[in-house]
Amino acid sequence: MAHIDELVRRRDQALAQFATLGDLRPGKLALNYRKCGKPRCHCAGDDSPGHGPSYVLNRSIRGKTRSIRIRPDEVAQTRALLDEHERFLVIAAQYLEASEALADARRAEAVDAGEKRKQRSRRQKPVSPDLSTS
Ligand SMILES: [Zn+2]
Repeated sequence: MAHIDELVRRRDQALAQFATLGDLRPGKLALNYRKCGKPRCHCAGDDSPGHGPSYVLNRSIRGKTRSIRIRPDEVAQTRALLDEHERFLVIAAQYLEASEALADARRAEAVDAGEKRKQRSRRQKPVSPDLSTS
């Protein structure tokens, strides 16, 4: 029982952390260089990395990558949003872990209680709700 109380405490702690989250967004910030395709441009040379660097925010949605260009003045804010998303993932993982452990612990407890009950009576009839009081 003390074990269950501890798991409830851990789950509720994680739940409370959700409320502390600020704005966030998922994805990965990448530096991007590109070739414009003009044959006379400096970027056409084999030794040129291409135009850039520019920042691109990549986000995978159901296997497809969505890319958004991030202006230099947006980089700091974007990083903050991505950091907050990382925090969200950590909290979500803690919440899931505690919830799953709690479900296991309650199941184990129910099995124990069920075995004790079985020793007394084989089966109980379901009790129908009393509707006569109204
Ligand atoms: Zn070019």
